[in-house]
Amino acid sequence: MASIFTQIVEGNLPCHKICENDSFLAFLDINPIKPGHSLVIPKKEVDYLFDLEDDLYRGLMAFAKPVAEAIRAAVSCQRVGVIVAGYEVPHAHVHLIPTESMADFSFALARRASDPDLAKVAESIRQQLPRVQS
Ligand code: AMP
Repeated sequence: MASIFTQIVEGNLPCHKICENDSFLAFLDINPIKPGHSLVIPKKEVDYLFDLEDDLYRGLMAFAKPVAEAIRAAVSCQRVGVIVAGYEVPHAHVHLIPTESMADFSFALARRASDPDLAKVAESIRQQLPRVQS
């Protein structure tokens, strides 16, 4: 069965999209550690990040960079942190998490966010993308 993220890629499940291209998609985590917590995925379904072909791995990280900059511009934070976990969804992904300190690197802080709140944050991140990409 297709992963939850493949179902999102194929349009069979909704997401709060930030941006996409032919190979990658960035969208909000529905259980954010902090508002703006995003996931960046390759559209190709591969379970383990470090099993990605080199080009896809490098492409994923390059795709994540402006997304992280847009998150930082949209959401007040010291740094956008990166976590790679993959214990819940077997489809390679990188968590981009607005953080103020090491204490924010904790999934114990994750809380389900409402759709209106997610929509608002996604819009504010999307608005920053053209600025960080120029
Ligand atoms: P992990 O696989 O441990 O890196 O965690 C997967 C992450 O995906 C968790 O933070 C979940 O909150 C998130 N997640 C699961 N389903 C969805 C979904 N349908 N839309 C957005 N995020 C999701």
